[in-house]
Amino acid sequence: MKVIVAKTAGFCWGVKRAMDAVLEASVHHDGRVVQTLGPLIHNPQALDLIGKRGVAVAEAPDKVQNGTVVIRAHGIPIQDLRGLKERQAKGELKIVNATCPEVAKVHNKIKKWSPKGYFTVILGSHGHAESVAHRSFAESGSVIVANMAEAQALTDDQLKKVLVVAQTTFTVKDYHEITEYLRERAGEAVFENTICEDTWMRQDEAKSLAQTVDTVIVVGGKASSNTKHLAELAHHYGKPVQYVETAAELDLAGFSGKETVGVLAGASTPTWLVDEVVDVLEQLGDGPSRWRNFLQAAFGSSSLMALGAGLMTLGVHKWLGLPLGWRYPVITAAYVLAMYLLTPFLDPLGLGAKGPARARFLERHRKGLLVSAALALAVTLGLAASLGAKVLLIVAGASLVGAAYKRRFQVGGKAWSLRHIPGSKDVVVALALATVAVITPVWQEGRVWDLRTFAAIFLVGVLAFVRTVIYEFRDMQNDQIVGKETLPILMGKRATKLVLLGLLGTLLAGTLWLTYENRGQGHPLAVALVLVVCAAYPMVYLWLYHERFTTGKNRFELSVDFSFYLVGLLALI
Ligand code: SF4
Repeated sequence: MKVIVAKTAGFCWGVKRAMDAVLEASVHHDGRVVQTLGPLIHNPQALDLIGKRGVAVAEAPDKVQNGTVVIRAHGIPIQDLRGLKERQAKGELKIVNATCPEVAKVHNKIKKWSPKGYFTVILGSHGHAESVAHRSFAESGSVIVANMAEAQALTDDQLKKVLVVAQTTFTVKDYHEITEYLRERAGEAVFENTICEDTWMRQDEAKSLAQTVDTVIVVGGKASSNTKHLAELAHHYGKPVQYVETAAELDLAGFSGKETVGVLAGASTPTWLVDEVVDVLEQLGDGPSRWRNFLQAAFGSSSLMALGAGLMTLGVHKWLGLPLGWRYPVITAAYVLAMYLLTPFLDPLGLGAKGPARARFLERHRKGLLVSAALALAVTLGLAASLGAKVLLIVAGASLVGAAYKRRFQVGGKAWSLRHIPGSKDVVVALALATVAVITPVWQEGRVWDLRTFAAIFLVGVLAFVRTVIYEFRDMQNDQIVGKETLPILMGKRATKLVLLGLLGTLLAGTLWLTYENRGQGHPLAVALVLVVCAAYPMVYLWLYHERFTTGKNRFELSVDFSFYLVGLLALI
């Protein structure tokens, strides 16, 4: 059975932003209570995890205790927000407003038209927190319309001068049908399609997936309106649908005789719940698809990075004028692969650091993955030995540091581990890659330690550092839940992003200066161009995606690793 997971499955960027905000608040608080006003999102499992981090839920504004209060992604009525701000002014409260900017856009539309006398029609669900918040901004009156029958029941008076907006998660199809009808009846009317981009992309994908698979699984909270809409859409195409909150609710008998199954998930469904469902479904599969799934889960990410690291080594060597051979790039690629495969098994906290589904996968394939890691390590060390004792010694040292990174050692009677130094992972990865890809070959081949050499070390180190931290941005929630202390968790997203931009800016300025200084000494403009693109790419990536890491898993990995591939272009010049 082939399992196709929707690229949009998992938290939307607004929910991810709210989750990050609440988890960040649970780390950086002043000792007083941290709470959300109402449940942060409509997903009981995610709420459970937030609860385990000590975050309380205040059911109403008058129940908010002194301390920190996080406003959920759906937003809250303006009157409630004003009350909280008054308390903040008195020093009783700290407000972290995680209202999704897409929701705030709807508030702004209502704030613009309502004072001009426009009655507001909100296409949405009755009692949904977001629509309730929208209504609070409509000073010239408002109504929630959930379906065509309710639209038909609107009075002519209500439609004389009207603003029509939608709850951000409303069904696109219903929006078009209802607004078409209202356009015929309304007098002076403003129509604003405020369904957010994430919702329509998710519904679009649900539509096309439901048409191509034999059966559909929708994963998400039963109270989540956007998840319900996905299930309705799949039903509409006549496919059997299982709407589950967790993998335990799957009816496995329902898959017998099915060849393809599509997995959809709502905007408030955590990725780990989707992974759990996919893990169970893949166990039901057999034949080539099972092998394909295994190879992708086992080697998908690691081989993309290993290939990128190998190509980056080739590019940097060409730039430095080192002899171009296959051994150094293969050593770097095999080293990356070996470390990637090996380190989860050396974690003293066990295999669960990337969630229960990944832990089960690692446990099931322990032998195969460890053999692959040992083979990759043997290739790394064998090739290093073929280049000389010096190379072997350094590469073996780098492998030892990588393998021992998570281990605990007794120093002076105290347990000590490299991983407990905040941010150490990012630095260790950067140093290890720069050592294997640049420092060792430069030393072995006797190249001079000039400015260009140090620039190459800096280039590889910075790109590896930025890559690791971008992954940490993506994994912030999971890392906070398992108690990891990564840079974004310790410093906060904003400060970490500034550090990355500072490093990339230095890289960009350095490469431009180096090109200018060496313009007469064999430093062609094409090289400068590639270097500038290599430094600028992660900057643009961070700027575009730092909040919205919601591309599909493989696309995300490929796009983050792309900076390594760009450096490889230097080999062509
Ligand atoms: S569904 Fe859209 S509006 Fe709602 S939180 Fe997500 S991105 Fe924001």
